[in-house]
Amino acid sequence: VKDRGKSDYKIFNQDLEHQSLERRLLENALRQGINNEQFYLEYQPKVNLITNKLMGMEALVRWKHPELGIISPGKFIPLAEESGLIVPLGEWILRESCRQATTWQSKDYPHLSLSVNISVRQLEDIHFVTKLKSILQETEFDPTRLELEITESVLANIKSTIPVLHEIKKLGVQISIDDFGTGYSSLSYIKEFPIDTLKIDQSFIRDIHTNKESKEIARAIIKLAKSIGLRVIAEGIELEEHVDELSKDGCILGQGYYYSKPLNVDAFEDFMVTY
Ligand code: C2E
Ligand code: CA
Ligand code: CA
Ligand code: CA
Repeated sequence: VKDRGKSDYKIFNQDLEHQSLERRLLENALRQGINNEQFYLEYQPKVNLITNKLMGMEALVRWKHPELGIISPGKFIPLAEESGLIVPLGEWILRESCRQATTWQSKDYPHLSLSVNISVRQLEDIHFVTKLKSILQETEFDPTRLELEITESVLANIKSTIPVLHEIKKLGVQISIDDFGTGYSSLSYIKEFPIDTLKIDQSFIRDIHTNKESKEIARAIIKLAKSIGLRVIAEGIELEEHVDELSKDGCILGQGYYYSKPLNVDAFEDFMVTY
């Protein structure tokens, strides 16, 4: 029994070593990727569900590794957060998306707003607000057209970000709670955090037309947002039924494959022209 335990331990240990080796390799690749410009952004249209008008876009980062190919953000963002690399990467994402959005606004689309995902690790960086300010100046992007998306689960647990959020709001920048409805903490933080928008998580939208619970949760979020003066948007809209349910309940903003998947710059420009 003792031997058996020992060899199990050994296997377990090798497995751990293997895991951490893989992590270290990926972390190194990530660091090199940032230096070698292996990242690019895609943009997913945000539309008015009633008028179908294009209202803005969410920037989503992509990593194209020369050997490993495209690696999904679901895989590398958590690693970038744990290693702290999200700070330089996130700064690049903000600068690049503001620069891009400024060129679109100065063409024929002055009303477009830009949403950018921000990790709490970035908010914890004491230089975040200074960096944000200089990016806005440098790219000449209208701060009131910028919205930062912050995930509910992390935000709800970190009170220390409240002063930073107030600083951000002072610049005129908007704040949206991403994946709303998936966090487990109390709702009281909505009152304490200076937020503008609730983004209903796609897990409630997916079966909103067939599942009573999802439908009621989405309705409750829409109602809550309206009653306290926040905007509300739905993500993961894939079907006409989703649009129908949401607009019946009074949600008029959304995004999802039904309208468009995230698009690279060229494809987004085609979308703007033909949509
Ligand atoms: P998220 O912010 O909740 O982004 C929405 C995700 O749903 C995106 O996946 C998007 O491509 C996908 N999606 C959009 N419409 C639909 C739809 O109709 N159906 C389905 N099934 N999926 C849809 P993506 O691009 O793989 O990003 C995954 C997550 O990675 C994001 O979730 C976000 O948490 C993180 N992420 C992506 N880009 C960035 C970034 O630039 N910075 C940070 N900090 N995180 C990012
Ligand atoms: Ca998001
Ligand atoms: Ca989301
Ligand atoms: Ca998410």
